[in-house]
Amino acid sequence: MSAANISSASAPAAAPASVRVRAPGKINVSLRVGPLRPDGYHGVASVYLAVSLFEEITATVTGEPGITVTVDSDGPLQVPVGGIPLGPDNLAARAARALADYADNPTGVHLHITKRVPVAGGMGGGSADAAAALVACDALWNTKLSREELAGIASGLGADVPFSLLGGIAVGLGVGDRLTPAISKTPLHWVLVASDAGLSTPAVYGALDTLRGEQQLQAAEPEDVDPAVLAAMRSGNARDLAAVISNDLQAAALRLAPELGALLSTGERLGALAGMVSGSGPTVAFLTEDAAAASALEAALRAEGHRALAVEGPVAGARLAAAVAD
Ligand code: ATP
Repeated sequence: MSAANISSASAPAAAPASVRVRAPGKINVSLRVGPLRPDGYHGVASVYLAVSLFEEITATVTGEPGITVTVDSDGPLQVPVGGIPLGPDNLAARAARALADYADNPTGVHLHITKRVPVAGGMGGGSADAAAALVACDALWNTKLSREELAGIASGLGADVPFSLLGGIAVGLGVGDRLTPAISKTPLHWVLVASDAGLSTPAVYGALDTLRGEQQLQAAEPEDVDPAVLAAMRSGNARDLAAVISNDLQAAALRLAPELGALLSTGERLGALAGMVSGSGPTVAFLTEDAAAASALEAALRAEGHRALAVEGPVAGARLAAAVAD
């Protein structure tokens, strides 16, 4: 592929032969979780933040119908990809199938995923792949769906998929898919630390129900997020935000992966304003004062043997990075 036939950021008028899309991972700056509902889900009230750790999907037209997937990984978090399904269960393949069905498009596609977001890490990496696949196939197949139509398909694929499409900062209600955009005055600087083993999201929700049962806690259905979190983000004051970040899933993640407790203490000892488990974990996110503090903390954690990465947010949602003509 030569540089001359790459057009950045917007699709050419004719359908391209190959496109590259990036979609961000997320952290939940605040996550309230309600009781187990009769339908098996938990209601949440979440403040999502898209951070500068991106999944990348290259989608290429194939000669035959059907969806094929390959996966590799790069980047400092050294994400192992062995356990990711490559068949129709892959979230990117499911997204491409859903779009093909919606748009009645029989064209075959090959999806190559470059993973950078930890798998089963609580950062919505699979959801980012699904969002990236939707944007990629929409460009590749020239289906030209509106963002609203893509969001409609996204919410059928998983609770976190609509947010990866949207990006930025958003309040998520319902199961996290009812989104309202929010703002931050300045970028926020975090350091992510990956863990060796993933945590299953349903197992962490199950552990939360068990913990609440043991402690005879009656959780209420969360109606809204903590307004102090949105106020701190609006003002862009990291210290104010550090005082109010919280995650109802953290205690449950710590029960399943107790070593995360020591990691949280280490990050705070090394200068983080505050640390939290991201979503259902086990990735831990440390909030820092500014970019310089984040890079110092990243270095200090790496010196102690951790896979750490400084990131910032908010960043944009799933976007076309390049389109390549025949
Ligand atoms: P979330 O925070 O959205 O609940 P997560 O970030 O903890 O999820 P993911 O990495 O999105 O977890 O994936 C969870 C599981 O989904 C994996 O264990 C894997 O088996 C399956 N999966 C299917 N497709 C993908 C994909 N493209 N990338 C990662 N995992 C996938």
